[in-house]
Amino acid sequence: MSSDDDEGGEEYLFKIVIIGDSAVGKSNLLSRYARNEFNAHSKATIGVEFQTQNMDIDGKDVKAQIWDTAGQERFRAVTSAYYRGAVGALVVYDISRRSTFESVARWLDELKIHSDTTVARMLVGNKCDLESIRAVSVEEGKALAETEGLFFMETSALDSTNVKTAFEMVIRDIYTNVS
Ligand code: GDP
Ligand code: MG
Repeated sequence: MSSDDDEGGEEYLFKIVIIGDSAVGKSNLLSRYARNEFNAHSKATIGVEFQTQNMDIDGKDVKAQIWDTAGQERFRAVTSAYYRGAVGALVVYDISRRSTFESVARWLDELKIHSDTTVARMLVGNKCDLESIRAVSVEEGKALAETEGLFFMETSALDSTNVKTAFEMVIRDIYTNVS
């Protein structure tokens, strides 16, 4: 995170990480938010580490540098470099796969271990378009978020539901905490 005002306008840079089990839709949430793209056959992306999105808050230029894993989570090998300096996190599960919801506690632990500062955290139940095969209720998601002190939102990277809102809530919360 940085702030400088040598040209009159302030600038902020926030690092945000997206974590959660493999195939919950992390990469598609990011591509939906940053490029308005969805990929039905997405493979673990290799190479691209993060995408930057600009947002104007109170006339301030806020840049969110949003990091996506390159699929390391399949091997439980997300490194500390991935978390380093993060001030925001989206912890994602898939509402149609209960095991991904049960993994959330482990991801929160991992985040806690690797972060040296307050992190704005949002629990994200993705794939809410898959209502017919839902395996985790909205109430369960909300309850877990409340217990752990996280924001909560159900999203769909497929049909765009709440994707922008989820990222922007985290970015605004970080901004509020530092400004
Ligand atoms: P990651 O491993 O967490 O990065 O997950 P991906 O973004 O690669 O997505 C895994 C699979 O889930 C892909 O086949 C996506 O097309 C699919 N997917 C991602 N988001 C959604 C969503 O919101 N709804 C539905 N129905 N499928 C999704
Ligand atoms: Mg991915």
